[in-house]
Formats: sequence, C-alpha cells, structure tokens
Amino acid sequence: MSNATPRVHLVNPSARAFGVAVITPRWLYVLASATGTEWGDPVIVDETLEHINLDTIAPGDVVGIGIHTGNALRGYVVGRAARERGAWVVYGGIHATLFPEEMHEVGGAHAVVRGDGDMVWPQVVRDCLAGTPQRVYEGGRIPAGEFSKARWDLMPEGRYMWASVQTVRGCPKHCSFCSVWRTDGQEPRQRGVDAVLEEIVDLRRRGFRFIALADDNFYPVTYADIAMARRRSDKARLHELEALRAERFELMERLAQLPSDTVCFTQITMEAAEDPEFLDAMKRARILGALVGVESVSEAGLKDVYKGFNLAGDELVARLKTFRRHGVHVLGSFIFGLPSDREDTFETTVALAQRADLTFAQFVLLTPFPGTIDFDKWAKAETTKGTAVDGISVTKHWLIPESRRPKLFTPHPTMSLEEIRTGAQRAWDNFYSWGAVWERSGAAVKSLKARVAFMLISKLYRQMYANTGIATDSARVNRSQKWARLMAAAAKPLFSGRPMPELQVPGPVNRELAARSA
Ligand code: SF4
Repeated sequence: MSNATPRVHLVNPSARAFGVAVITPRWLYVLASATGTEWGDPVIVDETLEHINLDTIAPGDVVGIGIHTGNALRGYVVGRAARERGAWVVYGGIHATLFPEEMHEVGGAHAVVRGDGDMVWPQVVRDCLAGTPQRVYEGGRIPAGEFSKARWDLMPEGRYMWASVQTVRGCPKHCSFCSVWRTDGQEPRQRGVDAVLEEIVDLRRRGFRFIALADDNFYPVTYADIAMARRRSDKARLHELEALRAERFELMERLAQLPSDTVCFTQITMEAAEDPEFLDAMKRARILGALVGVESVSEAGLKDVYKGFNLAGDELVARLKTFRRHGVHVLGSFIFGLPSDREDTFETTVALAQRADLTFAQFVLLTPFPGTIDFDKWAKAETTKGTAVDGISVTKHWLIPESRRPKLFTPHPTMSLEEIRTGAQRAWDNFYSWGAVWERSGAAVKSLKARVAFMLISKLYRQMYANTGIATDSARVNRSQKWARLMAAAAKPLFSGRPMPELQVPGPVNRELAARSA
C-alpha cells in the first residue's frame, strides 16, 4: 500500500455543493499549516464548493476528513471510498472526538484524532506513511499560544466571500443544546493579538475585506464575571480576567487601524450589550455584525435551554437594540420546538425579531446534538423506547439517510412535529419576504447598490440555510440549492476588495490615547 510520492489530502465533506461558499472552513487551512511541507503541499478539498474527485487519491496517500455531526454521513462515504482506493483514512473534528469507534465501524477509519489536531497531526501522517497508525490519537486541548496559523496561500481564488480567523476557543457558558463548552472547554483560550492580526493582514493583502472571527464567544469575560472575581479574597482570578479583557481591547484598537473597507463579523453572547465600552470598541474595529444566540423570546423557553442569562420580552428587545445603537448589526438565532413553545410562538418570534431591529435572523429546529446535555437526556429516554428508522436508532440520527431523517426528534407537549416544522418555515418566509428585506435594507445601508446587495445576501442566506435545512420535499431542496448557487455566484464579487500586498500589521497602540481620541 505505498506509492513513490504519497500525498496528504484534507477533506471538508458536504452533501451539497454550491460552487462558492460564504465562509472559508478554517480548519482545512489550519491543518494544512500543521501538515508542514515534508510531503509537499496538502491537497485541500472543500465539498461545499465541489465534490471530491476520487481519482486524485492514490494508494498510500493520507486522507484527513474533518466532521461534525451534520456532515458525518457524507464524511463516511468519502472515507470508505478513499480506503477502497488504498489510502490511509483519518477522521478528526467534534463528531470524531465524541464517537471515535463509529469512525472505525462506519467510516472505514484507520485512525481517529480526538480534540485539537493542530499539534498531533504531523505525527499521525508520519505513522500512517510508516504503516503504523494508532487507532486513536488524543490531541487534547492545546494552549492558545500553540494554535496553528492557517495556510491562506493554499486557498482557491474567488470561491469564498468571507475568510475566517479564530481569536478565542472555548466558552464559559453551559447552554443545554450546545457542545462547545464541553468539547472546547469553559476556560477561554485566547490567542495573542499579534498572531491574530498577522493572519487578518495576510488575508487583507490577498483582497479579503470581510473576515469572520470564528470564535465560540468573542466576549469571554463579562461584567458579571469580573464582579464575581472581585468579591474573592484571592485576586489572581480577577487579574487573569482583567488581562483577558485588556487583550480584547488591544485587538480591537489595532483592528481599527486596518483599511476602512475591512469588515469583521463574530459570534457573541447577549451580555455584551451591558458593556457599551466593548460595543463601541467593536464599532471602531469595524466588527459590524454579530451572531447572538437569542434562542427563545420567553422566560420559559430560556429556562428550557439553561440560558437564564438572556432576557425575554420587552427587555430583550431593548437589549438587542443596544447592539444596533452602538453600530453592531445582529444576526439573531432562534430555536423552535422547545417544550414551552406554543402555536403562536412562530409569529411572536418574528415580530420580536423585527421590533428589535435585527438585521438577519435564523430559525433552527431543536435538535439533540451529541455532546450536549439535551442529547444525553433525550438519548437515555429514546434508548428505552427503541425508536428506529430503517433499522437505525434515532439516537444515531446522523446515520439515517437525509431524505428519511426526521426533522425533529423530541415529542412536543402541545404541537405535532409537522406543526413545528411548518411554523419554522413560515418564520423564515415572513422574516425574509421581499417587503421585509427591502425595508430592512433601507435601515442597514445607504446607496441603492448596497441595498440591492443587502437583498441578494438576505435571500441567499435564506436559500442556503432555510429551504435546504427545513424543507422535506426533495424538489424544493434541489430548487433551493440551484438558486443558492446562482445567487452565491452573483454575490461573490460584492465581497472582494482590492489586494493590498504592501499592507503592514498595525503596531501596538497607547490605550489611553486611543480612548481619548475615540
Ligand atoms: S450556545 Fe454560545 S453561549 Fe451557549 S455554550 Fe454554546 S457557545 Fe457558549
């Protein structure tokens, strides 16, 4: 099983390919960097662009496949095919970390990497090429100083709208539907400012002016955390948190010195709205958009998902409007199917999203994802019931072929699952109706060209994430995919900037001076 020049392939599996993609899958380029050049540049395959050409895989090559629960099934198809061609097959990613044995049983794995792959990956490749891969490698949680930079020089030209850079891994919260705090840890691992800026400048030099800060939570230290640490007699924790917070500000102040057409987007908890100083710094840094997990508009719903730190009702509207007032647009994320949801929840949620001046919104169905508290509770109950589709237990729902996979798994006390699915579809339709999007475009941007671009992006977002994710009829899914491909191709040029090969990394700034001049 060897050839003269074995190659390393890195594959981001996807059942659907759109030709161009909104956000660059960062892990591909990070692992490419971790691979080094000992075996030549790795071959990178992002199936959200095009499906893999298996003819490129030769016997003896190493194929690394990164999977999360949503793309596991497609990943296994690729892995088995690669193994049939005589390649060494290695899995990594959140799903592989949670279920290493499944990779061997279903995906044709030779090896599985659990945890962060940044440091252990070269060893895995070396072992495979020596014919002695271990069954499982423990990558662990590496410190922020060891995070690999991405190899952006390997990115194909003209295929991505947004590049992605990570500034912090881990989240101190513990939402019941989320696995981040259990897999990436609750202690934020914050990257050094210089390392982050060097990558962003590298991307801006290449003409990327839209950067997604692909963080678990860009606001890892809240006022409440600092107040709590202040009450402790041992001040070590307080100093640690203050240092993390100061570093965030330094990053934002230096981002503010980049060319003025550079725009960032991130993911943040709603508590940031209590912190006007932080929001103003975001605006100056042109972090102009943030995904905020609102989840539910009612107190009962927030309790359902252990998210008591969010607000509900009018207070929620006021809190969300605060972001906008400080110049940060919000993509609000809502979950439908919570036990406390009722028939009118869909309309109430859309109305609140509109009242709160959200620029974008997404409406997702409650899904028990492995690694979460919700999953553990649900799987325990389902195992006793023994519910299965085509002989596959629903507790392994990601293995059920997509066309046969239920859209919702948790029985609801007052609504049928179909009522919830159609309610969610209705919410997408109403929030992204032509009239509503046109109205929002007027509030978000000024020129006619920018308003048209805004409409295009809104409709594209809906096609990519709503119709293909919630619809059950395959004709609608296929139609949506075709539309998304066309719109994505039309939208791509709107995101490119002029390459700036001479751009320098902004140097440190004097915080006091920066604050005074703001
Ligand atoms: S949903 Fe967001 S806030 Fe909650 S644990 Fe996950 S990353 Fe943290």
